[in-house]
Amino acid sequence: ESKLELVRSHIRSFPDFPKKGIVFRDVCPILKNPAALAALTDLFEEHVRTSYQQVDLIVGLDARGFLFGPLLAQRLGLGFVLIRKKGKLPGSTTSVTFDLEYGQAEVEIQDDVVDPGQKVLIIDDLLATGGTLCAAWELLKQQQAEVLGCLVVIELLDLQGKNKVKPLPVFSLTHY
Ligand code: 5GP
Repeated sequence: ESKLELVRSHIRSFPDFPKKGIVFRDVCPILKNPAALAALTDLFEEHVRTSYQQVDLIVGLDARGFLFGPLLAQRLGLGFVLIRKKGKLPGSTTSVTFDLEYGQAEVEIQDDVVDPGQKVLIIDDLLATGGTLCAAWELLKQQQAEVLGCLVVIELLDLQGKNKVKPLPVFSLTHY
């Protein structure tokens, strides 16, 4: 079984969650299976090593980017930084508001965790509309980081999130 098949076979799909008409893709079974989690980390590591000459930091998105990001950062010998939903981080912070299907959301970063000019990769579990990723990218630009690209486990093709975040390159392990 290939690494990719191992990862993909540990994604569960839940119709009508969190509301009717949405199929929720659940990555938790990957975490429960050590071989699948190792395969996922291998695939991300191989991608980063072959695609980027220099990366300084891995930035994870609240909340499931926090599950995979630190594992990858450790493999690469890099630090890991969090972008959180508004109101969770102490000290001086910057936030960006973005639109959801209904209403708005806000993401936030601590002002002293990324140095100007640092080359960063963003990681999350899933790319849907790209709204969250765009907001994170904006935050990192405000910190004068150089965002090289984004890594996700799953891309939902119908929602065309990749177009929304152009020209930022998005690497997805699998798609639906
Ligand atoms: P976007 O901002 O691209 O529309 O949505 C992406 C964000 O919503 C990600 O942070 C992701 O964790 C979450 N998300 C949306 N739909 C799903 C889903 O079906 N499964 C999972 N695991 N996360 C989702």
